[in-house]
Amino acid sequence: MKGDWVSEKACSTCHFMTRDNICPKCRISTLSDDFSGLVIVFDPEGSVIAKAMNIKEKGRYALKVR
Ligand SMILES: [Zn+2]
Repeated sequence: MKGDWVSEKACSTCHFMTRDNICPKCRISTLSDDFSGLVIVFDPEGSVIAKAMNIKEKGRYALKVR
């Protein structure tokens, strides 16, 4: 598992974390490896953070993407 975390990037639009070259949600390739914070959303409906970040699907998201 070592090194897995490093290869991940965050979508600059929806902040979704992925190891692919395109965001599986937005289908765009503007991914950034310059991000900070990590939000894991299990329950988008009941999460205040998910609501604030406009997250509608569970998954892992970066808090800030530059
Ligand atoms: Zn996205």
